[in-house]
Amino acid sequence: MSIEVKLALVLPCFNEHESLDLAASELSALLKEMAAEGVISGDSFIFFVDDGSTDDTWSKIARLNRKNPTVKGLKLSRNFGHQAALLAGLTAVTRDCDAAVSLDADLQQDTSVLREFLAEFRNGADIVLGVRKDRETDGWFKKKTALSFYTLMKVMGVDIVSNHADYRLMSRKALETLALFPEQNNFLRATCLMLGYRVSTVLFDVKERKFGQSKYTLKKMMKLAVHGITSFSIVPLRIVAGIGVLLFLCSMIMLVYALWQVLFVGNTVPGWASTIVPIYFIGGIQLICLGVVSEYIGQIYTTVKNRPRWICEDKLE
Ligand code: UDP
Ligand code: MG
Repeated sequence: MSIEVKLALVLPCFNEHESLDLAASELSALLKEMAAEGVISGDSFIFFVDDGSTDDTWSKIARLNRKNPTVKGLKLSRNFGHQAALLAGLTAVTRDCDAAVSLDADLQQDTSVLREFLAEFRNGADIVLGVRKDRETDGWFKKKTALSFYTLMKVMGVDIVSNHADYRLMSRKALETLALFPEQNNFLRATCLMLGYRVSTVLFDVKERKFGQSKYTLKKMMKLAVHGITSFSIVPLRIVAGIGVLLFLCSMIMLVYALWQVLFVGNTVPGWASTIVPIYFIGGIQLICLGVVSEYIGQIYTTVKNRPRWICEDKLE
């Protein structure tokens, strides 16, 4: 490792034209400060990834790039989603930096802890996870969904660190290893823990979003959760199998009961409720189970097609 670390800040952006000026000016000032302190090298840079924005995000990145050589950028041909955009950015900077930090373009994550990230990196950590201190700035709904998300992940056996999203430093070595994971639907916060390299954590505060709205819609959050679970856990399939076994055992008990009624009691008056209820109940369970299995088949389907995970349309050095 060189004495001075060449740092790349990777920021995926989807319709973030309002946030870019502030992000570029704050981050380049911070990079300059840290370079003056000797924490990073003077050629460290900011790398915006335009994830198929429909506003003038890309023209703004291009303008910033002309004015400020610290700003570089990559344009994806369409909206591939945050995880793909992030991976595209990390892949693009791998050969050009000693370490990369991924963060959001709205600068909600406190950037003053970057020095702590680098201190951990210098102490030998290949992956430094930013873990948020609390959820004060989140609304009620976001708090509840986030909490259920981490609980669900734990129950499903997916190894992730609670309250760590994608604010993370990765060494060049870790980035090169990450490139060996060809998954279609990557869930980076779990993948980076599978590399086996030294991981450490740094606590940080989350601020309010200054411009625009959250780009993580409920639909996108649910997609991320489903991909996270189906890419890293087969517990849902085991639950399906477990339900099957349980229903089979119940039906065996029912069979014995029915035979006993027919042969010894003679009380076989057909009941409407006892027929209709199990039909709906078992039908519902079967459809849920089919849905779970279909999610995995969907994963196999997208994996087998092996389409490009993102498409780069333009790059600014
Ligand atoms: N983002 C992206 N592609 C998407 C959705 C979001 O690149 O399809 C980016 C977004 O521009 C931001 C980051 O991902 O830089 C996190 O999104 P956001 O701040 O909206 O999420 P929140 O903080 O509300 O969870
Ligand atoms: Mg945000």
